[in-house]
Amino acid sequence: MLKNLASQCAVCHSWPARRICTHCEARFAKPMSRCRTCALALVTGLDQCGACVRQPPPLDACFAAVTYAYPWPALIADYKFGQDPAWAGVFAKMLLNTPEVADSLNALQRGDWLLPIPLSSARLETRGFNQAWELVKAIGNHGARLSQADARLLLRIKNTPPQSQLKREARLRNVKGAFVVDPLRVPELKGRRVLLVDDVMTSGASLFAAAQALREAGAAVVTAVVIARTE
Ligand SMILES: [Zn+2]
Ligand SMILES: [Zn+2]
Repeated sequence: MLKNLASQCAVCHSWPARRICTHCEARFAKPMSRCRTCALALVTGLDQCGACVRQPPPLDACFAAVTYAYPWPALIADYKFGQDPAWAGVFAKMLLNTPEVADSLNALQRGDWLLPIPLSSARLETRGFNQAWELVKAIGNHGARLSQADARLLLRIKNTPPQSQLKREARLRNVKGAFVVDPLRVPELKGRRVLLVDDVMTSGASLFAAAQALREAGAAVVTAVVIARTE
């Protein structure tokens, strides 16, 4: 884990700096061409990856601020497991600096939703906070939004083993039926746009399962944004 003093860049340790200095952010958060439905990095000119062409995911679009490679895994772990919710503001700003993410946020109208990928109540109790919900709140702090944000509309009803320990097929099985929309609140989603927020996207299994539950509840458009996408 990269430790740093408050006034040093967490990557290059230059100071005085914000959590990540402008130099490191420009160097490690370069915009790149990605699959429009799963955010996988692609060679320039391609619109969708092979997996999404063969089996279109239940997401209308998916965007990532960075690729899950040095220095991001250590910084995101610091955020998630190091009990350091202050990182949420840094990552929210990176998301807002990603043009496609900013456009998706601006497309949300009154009555639309900004939702975090929920944790199960057991996981929430152990960790103490939902990193995706902290991101949603930090995004909200960076400017007035017409849309509503809610951590209790989409629920995680299955406490699954951490995805990072599983292979792709097992991940898809693992999250099947893990998400539901609060049955009493289904009408609030009908015909609405939803922007789903998460920290890291690996196979996409969780985001796809959550998007599926939102679609079944009547959401018209479901888009996902994540800080980092694996390669
Ligand atoms: Zn730096
Ligand atoms: Zn794809």
